[in-house]
Amino acid sequence: MELFTKAKAMVFPREVLAGHHVLDKVGEMCRRFGFGGSGVLVTGPTTGPIAAKQVTDVLTGTGYEIHIIELGPATRENVDKTKALVKEVQAHFILGVGGGSKIDIAKLAAKETELPFLSVPTSAAHDGIASPSASIIDDKVPHSVEAVMPMGILADTHIIAKSPYRLLASGCADVISNLTAIRDWELAVRLKNEEFSTTAYTLSKISATTILQSAPMIKPMVEESAWIAIKPIVSSGISMSIAGSSRPTSGSEHMFSHALNRLAPGKALHGEMCGVGTIMMMYLHGGNWEEIRDALKLMKAPVTVHELGVTNTDIIRALCQAHTIRPERYTILGDNGMTPEAAENLAKLTGVL
Ligand SMILES: [Zn+2]
Repeated sequence: MELFTKAKAMVFPREVLAGHHVLDKVGEMCRRFGFGGSGVLVTGPTTGPIAAKQVTDVLTGTGYEIHIIELGPATRENVDKTKALVKEVQAHFILGVGGGSKIDIAKLAAKETELPFLSVPTSAAHDGIASPSASIIDDKVPHSVEAVMPMGILADTHIIAKSPYRLLASGCADVISNLTAIRDWELAVRLKNEEFSTTAYTLSKISATTILQSAPMIKPMVEESAWIAIKPIVSSGISMSIAGSSRPTSGSEHMFSHALNRLAPGKALHGEMCGVGTIMMMYLHGGNWEEIRDALKLMKAPVTVHELGVTNTDIIRALCQAHTIRPERYTILGDNGMTPEAAENLAKLTGVL
């Protein structure tokens, strides 16, 4: 008999607090985690100052000394600046307060300094607020790197509801994109004998269908929309921890999104591009792509080239280049990808063009 040699590690957040005014609980959370007295708080000039002040006030009131660092995009340089401050003030923990990039900086700095970190999203634009990987810009191109899962997540719906609605709709579209990611995964299991986790698959699928079914309730200026969205966003992140990779949440639609972002940087948000990618990849999978388009429309997320703010050529090129983005991840796009003619047909048939 063959010896049993399998081993696997899964890291989850220890506490997730989501809802109205949960930021008030950050001091108690840090106490429960037994954190030492000094913390570094990463935030940005535009996103987060209000939340950052609130978090600092609560923590100072609980006896912590908080050192704020205001940074821009998630670059290597900004991760290093954070690490330098951590060393200087001998911090015991790190907080990321803001949109995705501040959380990404804090996440990677936490991994490299081996400190615990708390994720305090002020918007919910993608599933990175509760995932173990970070998107770091290197040479102007974002790269996904292994970081750490936040030890605690505090998602204050009062604050998230005040961020631009477009961000929330993008976060919801990012979760809906799980529906094609898991189909790509199934395909890779059948064709490449890839490792599979039923738990991760199921959790990823439930997260996406929850958003899909709640689409009529996801609206601007309604705090309950943030409440509905935040739990599936967190469970999506947890499905990655169970699988040990982003496989359950990132397939051909994410490759399309990354390819499009290279061709037309900064035109659309990550989740917005993933949403449009999901419509088209679901068509290729022979699934119910209309249902996805309709849900995105209801949430006012982009479904066409115009709504994305890119050109027809960008869409066709992105479809043709998508399979090269992550060649080791097998998807419906296969090893050779799409021809320009097929790409144009696909975009037209699904109403994207
Ligand atoms: Zn994503």
